[in-house]
Amino acid sequence: QRTDTPLLQTENLVKRFGQFTATDRVDLTIERGEFRSVIGPNGAGKTTLFNLITGALPVTAGAIYFDGADITALSPSARVRRGIGRSFQISNVFGGLTVRENVRLAIQSVARDEYTAVESLFKPTDRYDELNDRTEAILDRIGLAHVAAEQANALAYGDKRRLEIGVVLATDPELVLFDEPTAGMSVEETRETIDLLEAVLVDQTLLLIEHDIELVMELSDRITVLNGGQILAEGTPAEIAANQDVQNAYLGG
Ligand code: ADP
Repeated sequence: QRTDTPLLQTENLVKRFGQFTATDRVDLTIERGEFRSVIGPNGAGKTTLFNLITGALPVTAGAIYFDGADITALSPSARVRRGIGRSFQISNVFGGLTVRENVRLAIQSVARDEYTAVESLFKPTDRYDELNDRTEAILDRIGLAHVAAEQANALAYGDKRRLEIGVVLATDPELVLFDEPTAGMSVEETRETIDLLEAVLVDQTLLLIEHDIELVMELSDRITVLNGGQILAEGTPAEIAANQDVQNAYLGG
């Protein structure tokens, strides 16, 4: 792992949908270990930016570097294997599978070449022991070991959130992107979810889209404000709170 380069860097990133420019020459730099939030009004281009970073959408122009390597042309799954994780809320979890099966499947999805059928012919026990150990370690980490054999569908609300985070963690990400993980939650559920993210994802760099400004101000190391597809401002919570452009464009004066 290189430490002299930023973890993530976008260079002059552009995304157009027909004539419409959703991402407009975005230069974003995320340092290792950062908790970065992306805010901005509806339609500012937050989700589009995430989709470009994960590879869900191809770029129109510009480049994306991860760990110093150009990943602009890589598939979404190749980016996951490089260490870019993304929480898709509930769609990451298979309701009909058990909690344990969900975690195990997520580990296998990125470790495909580590656990090939051919290799398991030669060293079956080692490989499967290792896979099992990693699965149990994640179940412990997210506090779901006691419900590991239960079907994901049957979990209580908070435990489902835990499993979603576990599924992301299972892909062993360096960077995790969360698109409004607390959307639709009560104040209490929001608090619990954020506390959980912070407790579980201690080794990860986090990139969060969040509409709750109070929460963003409290949690973030730095904040990027998007407006009309462009970066309007960037800085610490205190800098953003004091920024007149931000107040005018986003916080309503
Ligand atoms: P945000 O997440 O900040 O609310 P989005 O990234 O979802 O903003 O959207 C930015 C703009 O791009 C919006 O005006 C939206 O209508 C437009 N947009 C997003 N996805 C598409 C698409 N697939 N086709 C056409 N326009 C899109």
